[in-house]
Amino acid sequence: MPVTKKKPVKKSNTIKLKFDTSWSYDPAPESKSAATIKPQYDLFINGEWQKPLSNKYFATINPANEEKLSEVAEANTADVDKAVKAARNAYEKYWKKMPARERAKYVFRIARMVQEKARELAIIETLDGGKPIRESRDFDVPTAANHFFYYAGWADKLEYAFPNRKAEALGVAGQIIPWNFPLLMAAWKIAPAISTGNTVVLKTAETTPLTALKLAEIIEEADLPPGVVNIITGAGETGAAIVNHPDINKIAFTGSTDVGKIIQRAVAGTHKKVTLELGGKAANIIFEDAPIDQAVEGVINGIYFNQGHVCCAGSRLYVQESVAKQVIRKLKDRIESLIVGDPLDKNTDIGAINSRSQLETIQKYLKIGKQEGAEMYESSCPLPKKGFWCRPTLFTNVAQSNRIAQEEIFGPVLSILTFRTDDEVIEKANNSPYGLSAGVWTDKGSKIFNMTRRMRAGVIWANTFNKFDPSSPFGGYKESGFGREGGLHGLLPYLSLKV
Ligand code: NAP
Ligand code: MG
Repeated sequence: MPVTKKKPVKKSNTIKLKFDTSWSYDPAPESKSAATIKPQYDLFINGEWQKPLSNKYFATINPANEEKLSEVAEANTADVDKAVKAARNAYEKYWKKMPARERAKYVFRIARMVQEKARELAIIETLDGGKPIRESRDFDVPTAANHFFYYAGWADKLEYAFPNRKAEALGVAGQIIPWNFPLLMAAWKIAPAISTGNTVVLKTAETTPLTALKLAEIIEEADLPPGVVNIITGAGETGAAIVNHPDINKIAFTGSTDVGKIIQRAVAGTHKKVTLELGGKAANIIFEDAPIDQAVEGVINGIYFNQGHVCCAGSRLYVQESVAKQVIRKLKDRIESLIVGDPLDKNTDIGAINSRSQLETIQKYLKIGKQEGAEMYESSCPLPKKGFWCRPTLFTNVAQSNRIAQEEIFGPVLSILTFRTDDEVIEKANNSPYGLSAGVWTDKGSKIFNMTRRMRAGVIWANTFNKFDPSSPFGGYKESGFGREGGLHGLLPYLSLKV
């Protein structure tokens, strides 16, 4: 029988550590006043803030309390066309002609300004998307700045990156990003594109437009020539208008596999180059010889980091049978100690779910998991009354064929399965439509190499998880998409190489 732990209902927004009631952290909220959010944002086209031709705006809210933060323009097909024209003009008139070392200076400047405004960007990221301030402050914003630094460095060294080949920019890149790492995804896309001499039209996700709009302000202040980067806001139709625009040379998309498939169909038979970074269902594998406490901490980081809103989240845990009991007990203890609540509080481990619709998706999967016969265990922590929240949850007794082991939940929900042999776990780990990332925990280097050689995943972490570096390429196999972002490989999607 599926067992669901009873949850105590509390009214307070102050979250206490459950298993030691004798003490708790005092609230340590970051100050909202260190960030400026305008009541309304227009579209950033041709270096200017332009009213949308659609005349429409929509609200973006704080998912932790459902309060409106601002309203942003909804770009229609005519707005997209205007942005593409500005990007084309900038490309032909000056960006492609500018010496690479000069282009690099602009990108370095953006990187430094992102660093200078790091605190404000982190606060806005947390307010708009619901992720804990600790993550936006320590991961999203510094990693975004690092991507600009890294690709600025490559701009005038392409002849060393691709010896004996002439690297040429493609032209105008249309870029569409999701809501889970809004600023970081913008950096992943814009930095390699402009460093290699392309110009950009980027669309943010509907629920998290604000840090990309802040980045537009930075780009304006950095004096980047008008039209080199155009940042627009809107819904799925705005994205489709970018994909279908005839004067775009390259589409870079990060998002769901479903939309990725629509995009691939839309560009079939056109001259457009495409990279797709899509969903995932990463296998995190613990062998009996692994340092168990370290592995448990890695699993916690792998799935509960950013509320599980991570394409490469370690959402399938495979534990060798001999240590399964021990690992599951430790995981249950550990999720009890995770602090869920105010994302602006520096102690918070798990913030708000990004939107009501994502919360509904997660809740649907919790139901499915129970119906499939898995045992659900969730932390007993109280949840704030307003906003979108989900307790850290795990399922045991999961079968390989269960939907919670096969489909992407994109929330703080871990499915735990067991295995006996290397061959068995490789077969199970590879038995997935996805192939984005994986993790291996073991004391033996030879085992790590054996696993990484035979597993079909773009990134495999060994004795760690969710580690990123701009110099390291990232991307998937199978339905997780194709093309790589980051590293030297991340230059390729924006270049044509001639002999
Ligand atoms: P999504 O629904 O596919 O949306 C991604 C972006 O595409 C958003 O900007 C969205 O606009 C836009 N869009 C929606 N329909 C479109 C269409 N028909 N044509 C063009 N653009 C369209 O994905 P999501 O739910 O926001 O993001 C979560 C997904 O992204 C997960 O599956 C996750 O695994 C994946 N992801 C992958 C990576 C990776 O690197 N592989 C990284 C992060 C996330 P709206 O926001 O207005 O809908
Ligand atoms: Mg929002």
